[in-house]
Amino acid sequence: MELFSLQGQTALVTGGAKGIGKGIATVLRRAGAEVIIADIDREHGEATAAVLGGHYQPLDVRVQDSCRAAIAAAVARFGALDILCSNTGIFPQKTLAEMNEADWDETHGINLKGTFFMVQAAAEAMRPRGYGRIVITSSITGPVTGFPGWSHYGASKAGQLGFMRSAALEYARFGITINAVMPGNVLSEGLQAQGETYLAQMRAAIPTHTLGTPADIGYAACFLASREAAYITGQTIIIDGGQILPESAEALL
Ligand code: NAD
Repeated sequence: MELFSLQGQTALVTGGAKGIGKGIATVLRRAGAEVIIADIDREHGEATAAVLGGHYQPLDVRVQDSCRAAIAAAVARFGALDILCSNTGIFPQKTLAEMNEADWDETHGINLKGTFFMVQAAAEAMRPRGYGRIVITSSITGPVTGFPGWSHYGASKAGQLGFMRSAALEYARFGITINAVMPGNVLSEGLQAQGETYLAQMRAAIPTHTLGTPADIGYAACFLASREAAYITGQTIIIDGGQILPESAEALL
């Protein structure tokens, strides 16, 4: 079999209807996997599934039963689930001064608790087979960098990594790896909504002077999702065009 081929494997991508999730699903499909686009947005989910030759699965990551049902549906349809990309996330901006408990809970409910629900349901479904690849979409924001208005978001993204490290230990002996991709600024529908001023600021702060594409994240996720990445677990990879490197504006040529 060709190196890094996902032929014969099944992958479920949360938040796969748009943005980075769509990019990941596109790359996994190109590598040969059957892909399930699991998303709360039926219209875009079905459209993306149709374009990729994949399948749409309704999902609300805030609801544990919905997460369990999505994994069960994947197993029922394909006999097994090989890959979970737990990618759904939101990034509403709110300064700490303005933030209330509902803002905090909304971001953590989707980004962090949703990751717990999905990873638990998938890992438990994978355990009897002794094989699985789980890739979480975290961020540079929180684990490495900060940005005004994203304290709750950053906490949720750093929280995903803390969660991942212990989860990876618990499932290593079952042939299941759990790793994370950490995107910089990737031109998804969600990022586009931040507006041109934000996007221009970011381009200026990135050594490549380009924003990332959803496929850039997909290629890294695809590697971590491959059989060949068997000996890598609990790890992270930053995909940011070098954004976290410059020590000063002068370092950005
Ligand atoms: P996006 O807004 O473009 O897409 C998010 C997708 O998640 C949408 O399809 C949406 O319908 C779905 N979704 C939202 N709530 C859901 C729910 N409750 N249940 C199921 N699906 C739901 O976002 P994106 O920019 O592609 O971000 C995807 C992931 O990448 C997030 O975890 C985000 O934190 C992370 N990330 C993005 C960037 C970036 O620059 N775009 C950078 C770092 C990290």
